[in-house]
Amino acid sequence: MPSGGRPEPHERVLIELVFLGTSASAPSVQRGLSSHVVSYRDARFLVDCGEGTQRQILRSGIGFRRLSRILITHGHLDHILGLAGLLSTFMRWEAIDSLEIWAGAWALERIHDLLYGVVLRGAKPALDLQLRAIEPGTLLEDDGFRLTAFPVSHRGPGCFGFAFEEPSRRPFLVERAEALGVPPGPLRRDLVAGKPVVALDGRTVQPEDVLGPVRRGTRLIHVGDCARTDDLVEVCRDADALVIEATYLDVEADLAREFGHLTARQAASLAVDASIGHLYLTHISRRYNEREVFHEASAVFPSVSVARDFDSIQVRRPE
Ligand SMILES: [Zn+2]
Ligand SMILES: [Zn+2]
Repeated sequence: MPSGGRPEPHERVLIELVFLGTSASAPSVQRGLSSHVVSYRDARFLVDCGEGTQRQILRSGIGFRRLSRILITHGHLDHILGLAGLLSTFMRWEAIDSLEIWAGAWALERIHDLLYGVVLRGAKPALDLQLRAIEPGTLLEDDGFRLTAFPVSHRGPGCFGFAFEEPSRRPFLVERAEALGVPPGPLRRDLVAGKPVVALDGRTVQPEDVLGPVRRGTRLIHVGDCARTDDLVEVCRDADALVIEATYLDVEADLAREFGHLTARQAASLAVDASIGHLYLTHISRRYNEREVFHEASAVFPSVSVARDFDSIQVRRPE
């Protein structure tokens, strides 16, 4: 897990993801239901919360601290049932005083029924519980990091994928600034902020003079259950890592179509079309063995892994 410190200006943000549950629809002996933790600096997000997520968190050793923001890809039961147990536990502790759950409107209605109808039954939550409806676009932004949601086609309305990204930036060219007589300090900060400044010799220096070409920041794309990929190519374009479902194999492509899921080959083709750095497949069905899934995907896109529960990945854009 990240140390929580701010990176140096030249250093790319490191995004980490721990797979807590990688099974489709029902758990298997080896795999729990969908849930992952994404973290960068000192921010953490639980993405989906299938049944059994609490125990997976315990087993992973990542701890419950700062797990107060949950992003839900869609409202199917294999992605949300764990919320009931998690809320019940959090309410018994005093360590967690707020819980934010973000989901599309339809999923949020079902989550509301689960939490207010079954868990709380008229009682007031013993922590600050906020259910927040996701609209496509930016969910959170702080300096140097952005979380956005984008629509995903699956079964039913309001399914979303998430982009965790460090915005693109232009590096400050120190030698140029020195040659132009701009000393370290407020003048350089103004140039980085896009304002022209007057150098020591009275010349005006423009930001253009001291900023290098645009560099894209570290970017992780997370897509949950998904029926088609043609509408995802642009949002995935050039990401360092893509986490996406691969519920079926090509031999059962008709079932994938019928139930609104992808085959391993379709997921790999998206990685090719969008020039992804590395592809991580999850939501693996008990009907196949992992090697078959890997084999089908790697024939199309070699830089692929089939995720297992408790796998941990680190994503940082190479300089
Ligand atoms: Zn699912
Ligand atoms: Zn689903």
